[in-house]
Amino acid sequence: MAAIYFLVFIFGLLIGSFLNVVIYRLPKNLSVVRPRSSCPTCGHQVAWYQNLPVISYTVLRGKCASCDQKIGIQYPLVEMLVGLFAVLLFPFEKGLLGIEHLDLFKFIVEFSIACVFLAHFIIDIKHQLLPDKLNLYLLAVVTPFAALSYPPHYWVLGGVVGFMGPYLVTLFFLKVRGVVGLGGGDIKLFGILGILLGPIGVINTIFMSSLAGSIIGLGLIASKRMNKNTALAFGPYILVVATLQIFFPDLFDMINPFVFN
Ligand SMILES: [Zn+2]
Repeated sequence: MAAIYFLVFIFGLLIGSFLNVVIYRLPKNLSVVRPRSSCPTCGHQVAWYQNLPVISYTVLRGKCASCDQKIGIQYPLVEMLVGLFAVLLFPFEKGLLGIEHLDLFKFIVEFSIACVFLAHFIIDIKHQLLPDKLNLYLLAVVTPFAALSYPPHYWVLGGVVGFMGPYLVTLFFLKVRGVVGLGGGDIKLFGILGILLGPIGVINTIFMSSLAGSIIGLGLIASKRMNKNTALAFGPYILVVATLQIFFPDLFDMINPFVFN
């Protein structure tokens, strides 16, 4: 049994290693498949044995093998986190060979959500961007899962409410007050979350993330860390709230002050 946990963890580490490439390259509009990874400072191509998740970082003591350029701690951290996601979400209790197709599908969907959320979170904080490619991948795994699991009025209406609500509010503020509220990536993410969480669920996401964003934004303005015109990524608030709703629904219900049930 321990061997299966180990294999699933290794699988997670490898996906985490790929996720690091996605996080680095997507905002720069580079291909995530080619070329092979290289050091951004000296151009040294990373050999496969220098690219082993976590191990290589430890052996190389966080530095490029050729020059002394530091490798960010973010790399092994993302790998470890994704390894952990895989172990936590994998349906071990079913016994590896007895796993039904639907359990495996559920694992792929949940694991994909966790990975995309992590990449979105880091990219949005660094670049104020939720890349279309990640949203598109999320849409592609979430939609068939929702269509198989929920009645159409739940997921179709959820998608419409999740997308159109924030879209119309943003359009209103743009026309009436000339301010850009949410970015396109935020609105698309709300739409996808609507498909997964249903209309009521995504209204909760919208209200809770707006509340969290307002409280923290006002706190930052009050502490003079930013002024009213500082652009702030909104994605992280949506992602944290949606993580609670999807993976910790009981905790979410406990802290949710809006009673939409
Ligand atoms: Zn180098």
